[in-house]
Amino acid sequence: MTAEYERKVPENGQRILQPGADGPKPEGKAPDEETSEREVPDLRSLSREELLHFVLSLGEKKYRAEQLFSWLHEKQAESFEEMTNLPQAFRKLLAEKSRLVTLKAAQVLTSQIDGTKKFLFELPDGNVIESVWMQYEHGNSVCISSQVGCRMGCRFCASTLDGCVRSLLPSEMLEQVYRIRKITGERVSNIVIMGSGEPFDNYDNLIRFLHLITEEKGMNLSIRNITVSTCGLVPQIRRFTEENLPVTLALSLHATSDEKRRELMPIANRYSLSEVLPACDAYFEKTGRRVSYEYSLVSGVNDSPEEAEKLAKLLKGKNCHVNLIPVNPVKERNFRRSERSQILEFKNLLEKYGINATIRREMGRDINGACGQLRRSYMGK
Ligand code: SF4
Repeated sequence: MTAEYERKVPENGQRILQPGADGPKPEGKAPDEETSEREVPDLRSLSREELLHFVLSLGEKKYRAEQLFSWLHEKQAESFEEMTNLPQAFRKLLAEKSRLVTLKAAQVLTSQIDGTKKFLFELPDGNVIESVWMQYEHGNSVCISSQVGCRMGCRFCASTLDGCVRSLLPSEMLEQVYRIRKITGERVSNIVIMGSGEPFDNYDNLIRFLHLITEEKGMNLSIRNITVSTCGLVPQIRRFTEENLPVTLALSLHATSDEKRRELMPIANRYSLSEVLPACDAYFEKTGRRVSYEYSLVSGVNDSPEEAEKLAKLLKGKNCHVNLIPVNPVKERNFRRSERSQILEFKNLLEKYGINATIRREMGRDINGACGQLRRSYMGK
């Protein structure tokens, strides 16, 4: 098939979008339409206003909608039975006329080194996704997935090896945080949308998620404590800028030239650095939020002192931060992690040129594997 997406229909009938040789086609419809067109309302994905309309349409009073919202997002209920201050007849009606999306933890791995937990969650349709819970000095952080798989095709990433099955609903993104909070019994203070999937390839559901997770009557998380990571979909970065939400934007940069970036990330065939970097500058100008540039160090590919110098030149004068990531080896690709000394030298060089840089702390080294690997091994791949 010569189209940019090879469409495969697996035995379970789900459509899978594969990244093609020429790279992804980000303007194409994201594979979320099929999930957003369900007739039965997905309660946890509704805004407060929409929930109110729905509750009123069932002949109930306004205050019932507030109670229900609290069960969904503050108390993070797993079933209608738990909602004990709602009349039984109303709960029965809700069960008939709507659905309550809840994720089941199929596997939880805990690091013996630092307590990091990796969760494999089963979605209502049987698909599985990964999420990670990490403890830092500044609070607990959860990394969530935004899609089942990914169609962006980054060469160093295991999440994209089978393409994208579908985008996640807002409720499924929220539920990763809610279930982790319940299972660990701990507070969650930061969220990074950096797991499987390209969040901007699921744009509308991402925006809905951001509004719901920061709802005062819900989980009430500060929007400043959220990071959205993108491989560089320029139109969506520009659109997101106009939302003017003070979240941290993290751009997966990984290379200092278009040529090298194209080797690692097919999206670079679509958008050049001369397009993506100004889009990030505009984001900073509008929101005042410093952009984080993610740079995965791959041994012998992009980790030389010359590359560090080029990176410093590329980012010169920007109010930014570089996050250096020792790449996780992916057995299906031939990428090796840079030596520790090489990573340190790279960081020191950036700092010498005045670029603020940190090396991402490796969390859960003993349970880690690359993002997407746990799901693949669970599925027997
Ligand atoms: S790194 Fe992110 S955008 Fe790239 S393929 Fe993996 S999940 Fe998708």
